[in-house]
Amino acid sequence: MHLDTQDSPAITAEVERLLARRTRDIRLKGDIQRLFRARIWSQTAKIIRAWMIWVAFLDVLTLALNMLMLPKAIALSMLLPGAIIPPVVVAVVLVWRKPRAPWLQGATLIAGMLLILLSVALVGVSAGGEFYERHLNIMLFVAITAIIIFGIPLAWTVTIAALALSLYLVFQLQNPRLEIGSAVAATLFFASGIFATVAARRTMTILAQKTFLFELRDRRRVAELAQANDQLKLLARTDPLTGLSNRRWMTETLDHLWSSGRKGPAAVGMLMCDIDDFKRLNDRLGHAEGDRCLVRVAGIIRDNVRHDRDHVARYGGEEFLVLLPEVNEQEAVAVAERIRESVEAAAFPNPASRVSRHVTISIGVAVQAQADEARSPEQLQRQADAALYLAKQTGRNRVLLHSPESTVRKNIRSTR
Ligand code: GH3
Ligand code: MG
Ligand code: MG
Repeated sequence: MHLDTQDSPAITAEVERLLARRTRDIRLKGDIQRLFRARIWSQTAKIIRAWMIWVAFLDVLTLALNMLMLPKAIALSMLLPGAIIPPVVVAVVLVWRKPRAPWLQGATLIAGMLLILLSVALVGVSAGGEFYERHLNIMLFVAITAIIIFGIPLAWTVTIAALALSLYLVFQLQNPRLEIGSAVAATLFFASGIFATVAARRTMTILAQKTFLFELRDRRRVAELAQANDQLKLLARTDPLTGLSNRRWMTETLDHLWSSGRKGPAAVGMLMCDIDDFKRLNDRLGHAEGDRCLVRVAGIIRDNVRHDRDHVARYGGEEFLVLLPEVNEQEAVAVAERIRESVEAAAFPNPASRVSRHVTISIGVAVQAQADEARSPEQLQRQADAALYLAKQTGRNRVLLHSPESTVRKNIRSTR
């Protein structure tokens, strides 16, 4: 049966309700019962088929031995009723080879059992004498082994038990060697034994059902735990304000990208984006407005990159790092320029900005081209940072591609 069914809230609730009960009160119904049957079917079917084949084998063996050891007339009288068993067994085994409608399985099993028990009884009846009662006892023994080992619905078990006892009573009443009273007394005696057997079978079934309920509960708990774990992982890697990846996730992504190729990725671009005069926006409009601005700018950056390949992270307070795999310099600069223009066009107010009346963004770009000597992610970041620094120095609201000069100029500034 499908996993969806197993995990449905209705099943979960029913499992908990059943497990809260006393074991002996456990009753499976509806979907859970169907799931249980599907779960145990192959095992039950295997046991039934094996039992059937053994019964057929023993039947053929005893008939053959009888031919050798008993007087010819008696052995021959046993042959015809004894021959019922093998074809019946073949039919039941064929039906029970794969799952079929429950009614069909039940009907073939019960009809098969009736014929097998009848055959054993008739072998004794037609041989007569000492064999008469002996074979009726053998028939009850055969029925009891089936009742114990067949993990089938209780109604089927009870039906098989009732058939065995009825056959016993009917044939014992006709037993020329037995008084009616003795026949009834013997039937009652065996009935009590069979009743105890059915009760034991029922307990075994309930215990198997309880184990199954624990299995369902465990499976659900493991799934819940895995889900909670995934959620936790996501939270640990996400920036709660913008929903973008955080710095940790970006670091993981960079490590992953660089460890995938022998010398790192073939071509990759990096954009270091920083909102201009953001401190002034906070100071003038308040921190809450600053937060709203961050969310909007994050959205604009995300909308301007390829969703399947590029990676955007909130790297610091108002800094965003964009990773662009498989781009050349022109493409990286074009993406950066598109982001810058979109932020400007959105016209979010930043009245205190020295650049414009609206929010603007500066972007430093660094690219490792395919033919280029491989660089580490840290090197590439430093280059994007240096380009950003220069963009800020030269007036903000601009995109600058890293060149050796930008690093030199940044270094001169920071050593001053
Ligand atoms: P520049 O153009 O040179 O980048 O100037 P700036 O004011 O943007 O840069 P600075 O680094 O001086 O200020 C960044 C400000 O970002 C300082 C801090 O208050 C603010 N900030 C950092 N994180 C958050 C945040 O989560 N929410 C808000 N509202 N502000 C933040
Ligand atoms: Mg900054
Ligand atoms: Mg800034």
